[in-house]
Amino acid sequence: MAKVLTAREVEQLLKSGGLAAIPAGVVLTPSARDSIAEFKRNGSTGTAPSKKGATAASGAKKKVEPSVPDYEFKWTPGSDPKTPEAIDAFFHSPEIEVLKERICDMGRRLWQRDYTDGNGGNITIRVGDNLALCTPTLICKGFMTPADMCLVDLDGNQLAGTRKRTSEAMTHFGIMKRQPAAKSCVHAHPPHATAFAIANVDIPSCLIPEAEVFLGKIGVAEYKTPGTPANADEVGEIGKIHQAVLMKNHGVICWGKDVEDAYWKMENIDSYCRTVWIAAGLGGGLHRFTGAQAKELINLRQKLGMPDPRSDLKECELCDSASFRPTVVCEVPPKESCGCDGGSPSADPDVEAVVKQVTDAILKQLRG
Ligand SMILES: [Zn+2]
Repeated sequence: MAKVLTAREVEQLLKSGGLAAIPAGVVLTPSARDSIAEFKRNGSTGTAPSKKGATAASGAKKKVEPSVPDYEFKWTPGSDPKTPEAIDAFFHSPEIEVLKERICDMGRRLWQRDYTDGNGGNITIRVGDNLALCTPTLICKGFMTPADMCLVDLDGNQLAGTRKRTSEAMTHFGIMKRQPAAKSCVHAHPPHATAFAIANVDIPSCLIPEAEVFLGKIGVAEYKTPGTPANADEVGEIGKIHQAVLMKNHGVICWGKDVEDAYWKMENIDSYCRTVWIAAGLGGGLHRFTGAQAKELINLRQKLGMPDPRSDLKECELCDSASFRPTVVCEVPPKESCGCDGGSPSADPDVEAVVKQVTDAILKQLRG
């Protein structure tokens, strides 16, 4: 079992020897990872008892600028390690160990939410011009450890790691080679979104604002055998302009600037499909917002730096989901014909006539 390091232990190590002092193969708690990320940004963990920190603790509060954590892995172009020794050192470096642990975290979340079953699903993070970390083949995503991870080039050649890489990594690289902003891909088979993919039902748009902003227009890739170059090309072409891609008769692949960003898209698409499915069964129809309102959301998405193939469309073209077929809706019969209004048990004239005939015959016999 790998050793677990807490934030306090990590901060002490960083203070004594920087990132190099973090041993390879350890498991980091979420706050320990935050400490490493903070150290990378500022050169300190922010909680070490520095002179300034001591002043802050004594009352003179230091102004801390609010920020959004950035987990995107950035490398210097042209700096990929080349020799076996350099590749091995890179593969076991603290910054790569942090990413391996984050992949394990996302794997656990995929499995816990039922997005993967058996050995299904896979995760990649681009870590160089021609380098990516990826999950191995034939492993449950819920129970991976950093030692299971693989390092490959974008042609799928394995460079490091003791377990064989997933065959579906090539599908991820089909996107990464075409879309440089795709730094991480997550593939899974979340049941609600996959149900749309196997029922060949379009996912309707213009229903929930967050879906428009964070998923954008959902792409649909035609079915190709998983792991084949044809699948990589098909998904790559669709994924170039769509951050979430429904793979027909298969599942979903999403990409983001880091692995959590890509994972969030997976949650977004499955939640969206689940909500649409439930709403469609309520019988009240799906009430879309307008094309003008959709345009505002697409503009917001673009401001956040996310691509959307709808940016050039006119407002009237934005909420076109006419092909969506809601599920079967049970219609309640009109009140007057169901016999529940306290009146006659049946309003059917034929039944009424038979009842009258039988009644008359009985009365005639009784009188006779
Ligand atoms: Zn799959």
